Amino acid sequence: MSRVYITDTILRDAHQSLIATRMRTEDMLPVCEKLDEVGFWSLEVWGGATFDACVRFLKEDPWERLHKLRHALPNTRLQMLLRGQNLLGYRHYSDDVVREFVRLAAREGIDVFRIFDALNDVRNLRVAIDAVKEHGKHAQGTLCYTVSPVHTVAMYLEQARDMVDMGADSIAIKDMAGLLRPSETARLGKVLRDHLDVPLFLHCHATAGLAEMCQLKAVESGCAHIDTAISAFAGGTSHPPTESMVVALHGTPYDTGLDLGLLQEISAYFAGIRKKYAQFESEFTGVDTRVQVNQVPGGMMSNLAKQLEEQGALHRIHEVFEEIPRVRRDLGFPPLVTPTSQIVGTQAVLNVLTGERYKTITNEVKRYLQGGYGHPPAPVDEAVRRKAIGQEAVIDVRPADLLKPELESLKAEIGDLAECDTDVMIYAMFPEVGKAFLSERKAGVLKPEPLISPLTVAAPSPVAERIAPTEFKVSVHGETYDVQITGANLDSQRNRRFYITLDGVPQEVDLEVLSGFSRTVGAGGRPIASKPGDVVTSMPGNIVDILVSEGDRVAAGDGVLVTEAMKMETQIQAPISGTVVAIHVRKGDRVNPNETLMEIEP
Ligand code: MN
Repeated sequence: MSRVYITDTILRDAHQSLIATRMRTEDMLPVCEKLDEVGFWSLEVWGGATFDACVRFLKEDPWERLHKLRHALPNTRLQMLLRGQNLLGYRHYSDDVVREFVRLAAREGIDVFRIFDALNDVRNLRVAIDAVKEHGKHAQGTLCYTVSPVHTVAMYLEQARDMVDMGADSIAIKDMAGLLRPSETARLGKVLRDHLDVPLFLHCHATAGLAEMCQLKAVESGCAHIDTAISAFAGGTSHPPTESMVVALHGTPYDTGLDLGLLQEISAYFAGIRKKYAQFESEFTGVDTRVQVNQVPGGMMSNLAKQLEEQGALHRIHEVFEEIPRVRRDLGFPPLVTPTSQIVGTQAVLNVLTGERYKTITNEVKRYLQGGYGHPPAPVDEAVRRKAIGQEAVIDVRPADLLKPELESLKAEIGDLAECDTDVMIYAMFPEVGKAFLSERKAGVLKPEPLISPLTVAAPSPVAERIAPTEFKVSVHGETYDVQITGANLDSQRNRRFYITLDGVPQEVDLEVLSGFSRTVGAGGRPIASKPGDVVTSMPGNIVDILVSEGDRVAAGDGVLVTEAMKMETQIQAPISGTVVAIHVRKGDRVNPNETLMEIEP
């Protein structure tokens, strides 16, 4: 029996890769009956980014989404992507939290857990695999595929064997970046097929235009499971189109048996849905073979592009892409997948935007170099490590071995805001954003981020006399939103025009015109940096900590603020020695480059 089975990614990775994970549950449910009829081996529906986007942007309870999908898809296995000991968050959790999370996900409807560790450090999969087995679900061990001098077929086989020994029911090759080449896929697939007794799955991205060929080669070498995406959300940094693979295999010994007509109906539905999310469209929807050089996965490309665009630095993305392989080498060639893609990506952005490599080092890079994520695949650059952690010791044990049980303390911290056990996990995964979500829900003020098309503008909110407005009330689909146009967007190459009504007179406002007004006061009301002692951030982000008070003496290089950008924390250092004379930020403030966050006088 050589039939090929399809896992469709439309409800998770496809929209994560192409529209920044913004698809809402309301756009999934109407087509679930048809999706359930197809006979997919599984539907991938859940993962770290979908959970994050639900809480952060869509203001949906991700558990409620899962619950609804479970009921709407009674006949199809539901699959999720789990970051091993990191679960769906960005740090290592204690074993009791890992077990609790898996218990709840299994209870709420997940059948198949695809479990990976960004470094392929199999020690970080053990507890999750164990927990999945305990609840009688399918535990899939995952090899994060990358290319480096140390990543050989023999290394992948050894890692896969360790996962099977731990109890994995199947093995997935996860090529998150589109790095696989057809002949390499055949070679790797054959070796794994010949030496393992469990089913083999292939998850590969279409970024470089090679994915369909890789899948065909994999199928021919004995891989019976492939991941595809309904064609309306296929290609680019997403996956091979489901319909095309169904056609390609039809009438061969590998026939999927799926109904092409039904798939086409589903695709027509999603083609309509995609238009609604035009503002989130990835810059990379065609074929981009640069990934074969810079090894940047699709999701990471669109995130970096969005991040750079926010500060008008999109034109520097190619420098960032060139810096990424260098940072990766310094860090011992980690595969680029969450969280290592953010760790490497953010550091590369800092190395480019600050104009000096490792002038600023994120806290996550420090933790990584200390062994806090597990064993890097190859030795790290010692000079960079010393610069990051000084003489501090490097740990060699499984990082979670150093963690005490924390489930009870998490429950205590979130207290009454958590109305049920799944609420605790929302907080555990995203302490700040999750807590804000739960508070807003309690207050009944949850509001999804607006979709900006079609756009109509009502009256502006009161603005200071003779200063161009930066705050608007914008009504979209009948709902009114307070919108701030931040200074960071003013230099964007995109020609954005807003139509506003001032004193009853509609007028077109060109953002270039507004930029003239932002030279002395930024959008956050903070002065634009002009003196050597003005503390600024190199990336837009949020203030997570303020390390000094007014009147404190600081030396150049002392940490004064901690910001979070792209989910990575960065310490901002005093540019000069002197006295802190003014602090213009509070915890939680959104800040942009060029704004003075703090003033230090010599
Ligand atoms: Mn993927």
